[in-house]
Amino acid sequence: MKIVIGYLYGDLMNIYGDTGNIIALQKRAEWRGIDVEVKNISVGSRLKKGEADIFFFGGGQDQAQELVSRDLVVSRKGKTIKSEVERGVPLLAICGGYQLLGDYYRPHKGPKLPGISLFPAYTLASHDRMIGNIIIDSMFGKLVGFENHSGKTHLKKGTTALGMVNKGWGNNGKDRTEGCIHKNAIGCYMHGSLLPKNPKLADWLLKKALEVKYGKEIELEPLDDTLELQAHQMAVKKFG
Ligand code: GLN
Repeated sequence: MKIVIGYLYGDLMNIYGDTGNIIALQKRAEWRGIDVEVKNISVGSRLKKGEADIFFFGGGQDQAQELVSRDLVVSRKGKTIKSEVERGVPLLAICGGYQLLGDYYRPHKGPKLPGISLFPAYTLASHDRMIGNIIIDSMFGKLVGFENHSGKTHLKKGTTALGMVNKGWGNNGKDRTEGCIHKNAIGCYMHGSLLPKNPKLADWLLKKALEVKYGKEIELEPLDDTLELQAHQMAVKKFG
């Protein structure tokens, strides 16, 4: 089997170690004998349906977000990503990438940045810098990460959060929600990078990608996650 990871704007949107998520997906597939291709999908490139089996979209500063927001619309990549997610293609977006997949992100300065409305949510810049270790309770159990954002994301009524904050700020530091999940797409504020310390989530994304691509139920063979789970437990113990 082969999996193509669509790395959205990896040259512009990749802060606080977010590339570690690409490495985690790549290694967890290769350790199972699955071939991997990482495709950088950025400004000016076109995106066709079926070109990627899973998308990753990292965090970035406001300046990069302005450029990316425009490209998502002008190149129509936003439309393609949305329709791919609607047919079940999994996606993980962190922080700045997550913000651009909602309805809009209104930064402190400059114009409101339109999102692609994949997640029924919107983000407003705030004067709080929400920074630190974060632990949430989710359908994957506890997830651990690190957050650093000033944007506050508000989920629209009926939208499913990725989880509830156990420790940290989350979407907005008020309603205890963190992130958003829609079909097999997940957005959240959890840098870290997220996937190396949360192997269950990493494997869920890989499984969904392969099942949609090959059109059948796929059971991933278990890996020895001793180190990953030690790192996970250490974070829960230290920051929980
Ligand atoms: N510029 C956005 C904010 O500060 C996102 C930052 C990030 O991706 N860490 O909220």
